Amino acid sequence: MDVSIASPTDDLPARVARRPTIGGDEVRKLLETPREALWARADAIRSERVGDAVHLRGIVEFSNICANDCLYCGIRRTNRGPKRYRMSADEILALAHRMKGWGHGTIVLQSGEVDRPRENDRIARLVERIRHDTELSVTLSCGNRSPEIYRRWRDAGMDRYLLRFETSDPALFAELHPDCTLDERLDCLAALADLRVQVGSGFMIGLPGSSLDTLIEDIRLVHALDLDMVGVGPFIAHPATPLAGRANLWADDPEMVFQVIATLRLVDPDLRLPATTALDAFFPGTGRDLALQRGADVFMPNDTPGRYRHDYQLYPNKPCVDEGDGSCAGCVTARIWSLGRMIGEGPGHSPKSLRRSPVA
Ligand code: SF4
Repeated sequence: MDVSIASPTDDLPARVARRPTIGGDEVRKLLETPREALWARADAIRSERVGDAVHLRGIVEFSNICANDCLYCGIRRTNRGPKRYRMSADEILALAHRMKGWGHGTIVLQSGEVDRPRENDRIARLVERIRHDTELSVTLSCGNRSPEIYRRWRDAGMDRYLLRFETSDPALFAELHPDCTLDERLDCLAALADLRVQVGSGFMIGLPGSSLDTLIEDIRLVHALDLDMVGVGPFIAHPATPLAGRANLWADDPEMVFQVIATLRLVDPDLRLPATTALDAFFPGTGRDLALQRGADVFMPNDTPGRYRHDYQLYPNKPCVDEGDGSCAGCVTARIWSLGRMIGEGPGHSPKSLRRSPVA
């Protein structure tokens, strides 16, 4: 599609922009396009640019211990509700072998943020073992770290890193994240991109204190960062957090989440766009399927062992917390086939990454 391009420094932090930025008017126009028409265009572009295969990236929430206190998060440091756990390396490795058998190309290791030398070493050794023993692609999502730690993890075999910026509004970011600034988060994303690992980020739709203009800036920031993967999901208030009871900005228009997914596909056609779990909490049983029909191309089944799932609820009513080990894998396959799509084979690296040259 033709998009108008703004100046690289237009409103956004120029130092993180990796390409000229799409204009805000263009994004607004897309968000206001009649829905069925936009979704059909996004689905056609998705098919043309990244194909009909849906890659499975199984999430293993290996630890809910976190040093941070983000205001919206159910496993924030000061929430005494969840029983804190950390899976052992052997337990994670045994699970990784099973995931390989279920046809997953990637293991996504997700945890709270604990930036301690011992924890960073443990993660490096774990990545090395998984790559060596299973050849699964490894995605990490463990929060902010220094460029040196990211380099170490990349050298151990990490293929991708997920780190959502959550909102492009620096003041709102500061309100929600007492332990981190938006600048620090964007510096982490820049360091990861410099290391040529595949970088995923994203944002929350409908945060209290946000507006349509925030959403437009979020999409513009995604475009400017030239990411490999973008995950977006609705804000859902957790009752054990300071944001308990706060409404989603789009509570009266929940389908705005699909408008955002479709818009992202149109402004950045080669993105890997996961149908995120939170969509199923917003639209029970159908959210992720609808996302896959409106621009998304990746599914991330929850492969966390059943006994830990209740203690890793970043938001309430998270789907599948009562499911047994491995049950998500079978269910997901049936869901994807029912859409007339097939399961992607191999790691499903992002199309952008395949065009990039590696870096020393
Ligand atoms: S959002 Fe992430 S960093 Fe923030 S409290 Fe939750 S797990 Fe920790």
